[in-house]
Amino acid sequence: MLELWVTEYQTPALGFSCKIVETLKVEQTAFQHLAVVVTEQFGRMLLLDGMVMTTDADEFVYHEMITNIALNSHPNPQNVLIIGGGDGGALREAVRHPQVKQATLVEIDGQVIEAAKQYFPELSCSFTDPKARVVVDDGIAYVQQKQNEFDIILVDSTEPVGPAVQLFSPEFYRACGAALKDDGMLVVQSESPFFNANVIKQAYGNIQQIFPLTKLYLASIPTYPSGLWSFTVGSKKYDPEQPLHKNENILKYYNEDIHRAAFKLPGFVSDIIGANK
Ligand code: SAM
Repeated sequence: MLELWVTEYQTPALGFSCKIVETLKVEQTAFQHLAVVVTEQFGRMLLLDGMVMTTDADEFVYHEMITNIALNSHPNPQNVLIIGGGDGGALREAVRHPQVKQATLVEIDGQVIEAAKQYFPELSCSFTDPKARVVVDDGIAYVQQKQNEFDIILVDSTEPVGPAVQLFSPEFYRACGAALKDDGMLVVQSESPFFNANVIKQAYGNIQQIFPLTKLYLASIPTYPSGLWSFTVGSKKYDPEQPLHKNENILKYYNEDIHRAAFKLPGFVSDIIGANK
């Protein structure tokens, strides 16, 4: 019997293959190749340019960890900006946080938002929340127009390819710094310590030039390259490692112990960011 498998090449020498039950959507958008498939192992899966963006089975880890570390270590995270994140998962976590009053999502590719509405209702449910604003625009241009406005900025981008290359640049991080209030925090997804040490070095190093406090934390996401993923935080005032709020919502991955533990890094990761020097 013919079987269909989708393979993401996590490195030129490593493929991550999933058995497909059904192909729901395949299209070339103005920015990237978009595919939505149903896999036997992880349920529905969104792929952009052949890279896994989110799946039913493990999306909660990424979305809870890119949002709740900053939201719970900032005393008053009222106004949140999300760059990228067109699947809606980070927005969902932001609007359900009691302190958040407004969360703005700026996604460059409207087709990603449409695919999320059609095939990922658990993620896109947040698009119609009264606290949510959804803007289709280039996040780099959007941030450059903002001054001293946000408490938290989350950069939920793809890998540094195509429209996302500049989202890892010092100019973009500096513009984020200016768009944040005096006590604001920036969080960016910064890739795998096993396969993308250069991207971590670049993001961490650039953020460290701009923010008084820079830290890195980890989470395990089975469908992401190497299964171990990093996030880099730039903070103007508060220590992101210290949770200030108790989460009223019972989450599936994030909790206060995970919050603190996520910053305890293995030696090889500390080496990447130069923390062992
Ligand atoms: N969690 C995923 C990951 O870590 O790979 C990312 C998910 S989210 C779907 C990534 C989104 O960033 C994509 O929808 C992409 O279109 C968007 N994006 C890329 N460059 C962008 C830019 N310059 N401005 C706004 N959104 C951008």
